[in-house]
Amino acid sequence: MQSLWDYPDFDDHEVVHFVTDRTSGLRAIIAVHSTHLGPGAGGTRLWHYPEKGEAVRDVLRLSRGMSYKNAMAGLSLGGGKAVILADEARNKTNEMFAAFGRAVNGLCGKYVTAEDVGITVPDLVEVSRHTGYVSGLPVASGAVGGDPGPHTSYGVFLGIKAAVRNKLGNVSLAGLHIAIQGAGSVAGGVARRAAAEGARISIADIDPARAQKLADEVGGTVVAPDQIMTLEAEVLSPNALGAILTAQSIAALRTPIVAGGANNQLATPAEGDLIHARGILYAPDYVINAGGIINVASEYLKDADEAGVRAKIEQIPGRLEQIWAESDATGRNPAAVADTMAQRLIGRG
Ligand code: NAD
Repeated sequence: MQSLWDYPDFDDHEVVHFVTDRTSGLRAIIAVHSTHLGPGAGGTRLWHYPEKGEAVRDVLRLSRGMSYKNAMAGLSLGGGKAVILADEARNKTNEMFAAFGRAVNGLCGKYVTAEDVGITVPDLVEVSRHTGYVSGLPVASGAVGGDPGPHTSYGVFLGIKAAVRNKLGNVSLAGLHIAIQGAGSVAGGVARRAAAEGARISIADIDPARAQKLADEVGGTVVAPDQIMTLEAEVLSPNALGAILTAQSIAALRTPIVAGGANNQLATPAEGDLIHARGILYAPDYVINAGGIINVASEYLKDADEAGVRAKIEQIPGRLEQIWAESDATGRNPAAVADTMAQRLIGRG
């Protein structure tokens, strides 16, 4: 039988806490990868895992990802994540969230939770009745916090501009063609900012009405979802799904830059080498999409006002430049360079 220590994704996690509450039926796992830089922060995912080992793998992998992301965002936060093992219908009750809140509280601040797939703000409010170690709660208008989407898209937009400067030498997006996958919260902000700077926008979403609405707003063109990844453009900006960069899709790319906000764009680390070998400049996802977590962290740590959050997001291009410079100097792909930098920052260099 495989023990926890033998899971390939086990990476000397500081805490892996298995939670069972018979009364509410809650089953959850909380993993804290590193508290080197501060409390292990990361959202809670509520998901149906047909095979329980998948939940363990997910929480180990996601919590390590949060350590890297928070470190590279320059935050005083470590990395953690929780998964709630839901039934097939993904039923959830306030009793489950109460039990989960008590479990988070029992870790005395080693783990700070937030929203992730399957969890809504009202769910978090229920959790927050039982623990203070929660971020991403509703905030008063004008206060730091709330919807991370606009902050993520601001960082992605700045990251795209940095990539264009680095790869093409242009200081503006004017006249450039940007292919955007997704027409949701992050994609919308990127499209509006890029269009305002004079870029030509193509948009694809599996929800055609959503794509059309955004295209109309920015004077862009709707493209079929299966065509956006092979469009000829200066930038491909993935802002929908993860694992879209596979050996096959990388071979078919027709842009010199891939820079977008979607999480976990590379199907596996090996794709980092493939995209690099094609001479395509890649912006590591957890570095370029850190605007949202920067905003959420400032709400929790109460260490910045709106201007301070903006200033931190505006450091994203500099961090990308540092990664690309090291990639140029060493020949290693940017995703691998980012991982090594993050490991150094959390004291595991
Ligand atoms: P969203 O739900 O608002 O938008 C996602 C959009 O992608 C939806 O319109 C959906 O229809 C579309 N989509 C799904 N599959 C698609 C496909 N195959 N082709 C084209 N479009 C498809 O989500 P969001 O908040 O904008 O997040 C987008 C991505 O950015 C996700 O990967 C998310 O994990 C990541 N991200 C978001 C934030 C944030 O602050 N919202 C922060 C970091 C990372």
